[in-house]
Formats: sequence, C-alpha cells, structure tokens
Amino acid sequence: MIPALDLATVLLLHKSSFFIGALCFLYVRWQSPSSHGLGILAVAFILLAIASTFAGLGEKQALPLSVWALWSFVTGTLGYAVFWIGMRRLSSTSKRRSWDWLGLAIPAVLIVAALLTGFHLDNVWRASIFQGSSILFLSASAVTLMRDDRHEKLSARYALTAAIAVAVILSVFVVVGLMAPDATPLHPREAFFLLILCHFAIALFSLIFVNERVEATLTTLLDTDALTQIHNRRWFFLTLPAAPLAGDAFIIIDIDHFKRVNDTFGHAAGDRVLASAAKEMALNLRRSEIFARLGGEEFGLYLPAASGRDPQVVAERLRTAVQSLKVKVGETDIPVTISAGTAIAATGLPMQELMSRADTALYAAKSHGRNRIEAYQADAPSAPATNQRQDTNPAHTAKAGQAA
Ligand code: GH3
Ligand code: MG
Ligand code: MG
Repeated sequence: MIPALDLATVLLLHKSSFFIGALCFLYVRWQSPSSHGLGILAVAFILLAIASTFAGLGEKQALPLSVWALWSFVTGTLGYAVFWIGMRRLSSTSKRRSWDWLGLAIPAVLIVAALLTGFHLDNVWRASIFQGSSILFLSASAVTLMRDDRHEKLSARYALTAAIAVAVILSVFVVVGLMAPDATPLHPREAFFLLILCHFAIALFSLIFVNERVEATLTTLLDTDALTQIHNRRWFFLTLPAAPLAGDAFIIIDIDHFKRVNDTFGHAAGDRVLASAAKEMALNLRRSEIFARLGGEEFGLYLPAASGRDPQVVAERLRTAVQSLKVKVGETDIPVTISAGTAIAATGLPMQELMSRADTALYAAKSHGRNRIEAYQADAPSAPATNQRQDTNPAHTAKAGQAA
C-alpha cells in the first residue's frame, strides 16, 4: 500500500511538509491579518521542521548524537506545544487567555528531564516520549476544535479535527511500533509517511477553515442591519417564500411619531430607540420567524400558516413589549409605541398583494390613533402610494407580474 521509501527520503518529505505548511500559514496570515493563531501555527511548523532537520542530520551522522538528539527533542516538543496554542487561537473567535502559554511548561519539564537523565540519547526512549507529548498536544487540539463547535459551526472544523485525530492514531502506532514492533499493524516508517500526509492535510484544512470563517462573517454582515443587529431587508426578501400559502400572514410594524423622537431627543437617541425596539421585538419572536428591519423605523414579520401563530396575538405581544420599553435620555424615559398592520394570504394571493394589504392595515392603524394593531379589511382605504413595500426578490415580482 505504501511505497518502499528509504528513511532519508521520508525525513526529507517530513521536513518539507512542515516547511510548506508554515509557508501556507504565513501567506494566509499576511492575506487575513485579523485571523488569530496562524502566526503561532507557522512558528510551530517551523520548530517541527527544524526538529525534523536535526533528526535527518543525525540519520546521516552529520552531527554527534548528543547534539542532534537534544535539539531535535527540544524543538520537536516545543513545536507541538506551540501547535496546540496556535490551534486554540485559530479555533475560537473570542480572545484566548494568555495562560495558554503555560502549556509550554510540559516541554520545559521534559527537556529538563532529558538533560538530567540523558534519556534523549536512547532512540526508543526519545522517540516514544516525543511522540507521547505530540499525542497529548494533538489530542488537546482536536478536543478544543470540537468544543468550539458549539459556538461556531464550520464544516472545515470537522475535517481539521479528523486530520489531527488521524495524526494522533498514527503517532500511537509509531510509539507501539517502537516499543513492541510485532504488536503494531504499521511499521513506524509507514506510520511516519502517513503522518507527512496528515501535516499537509492539517495545513490545508486550517486554510479552508479560515476561508470558511471569513465567508460566514461576510454573509452575516450582508444579512444584518448594522444599527439594530437584526436581519435586514435584503435577507428578508430573500428568505420569504416565492408565493404565500393560504393562511400565511404578513405584518408591517412602524414606530409611531419617530420623527418627533429625533426632533425632540436628537438623532443619536432616535438610533437607540430603534435598536432597543428591534431587540425587544426580536426577543419576543421565535428564532425561526422571518423578522427584519425593512428600512427607517419600519419592520416586517412573516408568519407561515404552519407556525400556527395568530398574527393579531403576535403583533399585540410586540406592541405591549415595545410600549413597556424604557429608553432613557438623561432622566427622561422616551415613550416608544408601534403600530402594525396584518394581512393573511388567501389561496393564490401574490406576495406583493399580501404586502400591500398589510400596508393598508398599517395605514388604518395610524389613522385610528396609533399604538394599535389593525387587520386588513377589504373595504379600508388603501395606503398612499409612497407607503407601498418594495420587494426586491425577483421570484415575488414575477408572481405579481403573472397575477396582474
Ligand atoms: P408615524 O407615526 O406616522 O409613522 O410618524 P413617524 O414620525 O414615525 O414617520 P415619518 O415617516 O414621518 O418619519 C420617520 C422618521 O424616521 C424620519 C427619519 O428621519 C427617521 N429615521 C429613519 N431612519 C432612521 C435611523 O436609522 N435613525 C434615526 N435616528 N432616525 C431615522
Ligand atoms: Mg413611523
Ligand atoms: Mg415609517
């Protein structure tokens, strides 16, 4: 299965895999300076490449045993500890505690023990203890990656964890092969060769991981309203179904006399009112419900019939929640109320028409004194043309065109 490579070639490939990995990390760090951990991972791979170089020089007998064995052990054990620190930073977007660096105490203890006992001069002992520390730090890296999955779902996280887990298994084979050559299914040289492939895989999946995170961040930014941090109109119209099903409800919500808030308390206070009202409404809705700021002080809510939720009840809950909000300017509470118009789709009703009906109902709520919810009535006067929703989803426009 594995080509019969001589040890010198395997060591050359081993060293190259770390150097190439380090170059990849440095390149991506340069391209994406806000990504954490890549610089540390590059340092880790460089340390491991140096360790591999010392081992190669020892194999060629270009250096005395006391020199190459010590330095390959020092740089190798430090390399895996630094790798773990780098992976912890890469894995999470939150700032890691600086006591991660205490992880370096493990290689420090091993190095002191080597100097005191001279175990590094014995090939089996040195290789086994070195692989043991690599198993520890690689396993800890895999655990960190999976633990952070709760906070940030990225598919590259699984691939990266799998590559590290395979490296752990291969390192176990190396140790078992050294201790009990007959007990392992893989010769240490074969395990070593497969480890080289793992190093490439770890570097590759780390880069894909960073790329996926950047894409996810951009998508979130694209779909999020910067002021209120709820979804924006782009997301709203892309998320709506192409055509409403009978029973689906559309609700348009508008803050009352918002211009007065700006005029009386200032634009910054107006911004705070907007953000607070948006947050309060979002808190009173289910995560699965389609809710967004459509523009200005206006919000859209789409309730599929399948949700079984009564639009009047939902809108009324939002109204009372916003009314009880306390947004302070100095000692003064800014009064905030909303009005909403609701409309329920009948079979075959185009989305544009459903929105226009909700607009008509909102117009009625404003005309009837504000701080109230109105359901669409067929005989109600239509809202002025400037109030009509502008749906930017081509699927809805096409349906509306067909219906016209
Ligand atoms: P009504 O009860 O009829 O809805 O009256 P209104 O004053 O709320 O409505 P109008 O359309 O007259 O005014 C809306 C105001 O909202 C005008 C605009 O300056 C303000 N506005 C829109 N976007 C923002 C924003 O992002 N921040 C702030 N502070 N004000 C905004
Ligand atoms: Mg308003
Ligand atoms: Mg408005």
